[in-house]
Amino acid sequence: MTLISATDTTLAYRLEGVTRTYRQRDRQVQALASIDLDIAAGDFVTIQGPTGGGKSTLLQMLGALDRPTAGTVMLGDLDIARASAAELARLRAHEIGFVFQGFNLIPTLTAAENVDMGLEPLGLDRPERLRRIADALVRVGLADRHDHRPSELSGGQQQRVAIARAIAKQPRVLLADEPTGNLDERMRDEILDVLEQLNTEGLTLVVVTHDSAVARRARRRLRLAGGRVTDITRG
Ligand code: ADP
Ligand code: MG
Repeated sequence: MTLISATDTTLAYRLEGVTRTYRQRDRQVQALASIDLDIAAGDFVTIQGPTGGGKSTLLQMLGALDRPTAGTVMLGDLDIARASAAELARLRAHEIGFVFQGFNLIPTLTAAENVDMGLEPLGLDRPERLRRIADALVRVGLADRHDHRPSELSGGQQQRVAIARAIAKQPRVLLADEPTGNLDERMRDEILDVLEQLNTEGLTLVVVTHDSAVARRARRRLRLAGGRVTDITRG
């Protein structure tokens, strides 16, 4: 039996006044302009909006890949804006799963070995690693594809391996930048089914997408333009 912990009902993220300015020669580009945003634990949020609107910058903040110029990015009770580089690395290794448009699998490794890559920083013993790999591949519907290399898998299956790699570490949140951008409709729906199932099991999802079919599955849809949140809709 699993006990419901206090954190299950609290926030995954709380962003206050998050601003990110890039300096380009003598010009300042404000990629994010004082964003205030709460993301509840267990939410499924999509981020849409025009190119240059700040979507990737926001995802980098949530993923502890970058720090804001001003403001706070609380993940649980840790402020990503003020955490040390070592703390950010630990967050990325243990608490945050990433999925990218291009899958980013290692072509010479099997599905199981690719998933194992995500576990490397955790220092688990071999039986626990094998258990996590098997469990993650089951959860994405690839229990029978352990020994296949990326070239022996469809695009949708490759993205499911990438999702397995991201969830094997049992992260607090899963962040995805255009996860279905390289896939046809059928494979997109395959990925959406997997993401929806993971969300039903309690995983917090934040997905950047251009595809309104992806956004329709979300609990909350966010629009970003000019570095500002211009719209929030409940799904
Ligand atoms: P989106 O993902 O919505 O297309 P981005 O977050 O990538 O938008 O970019 C937001 C704005 O910040 C754009 O004007 C972009 O040119 C600028 N920008 C993003 N990254 C950098 C960077 N590393 N250096 C300078 N400007 C950047
Ligand atoms: Mg982008």
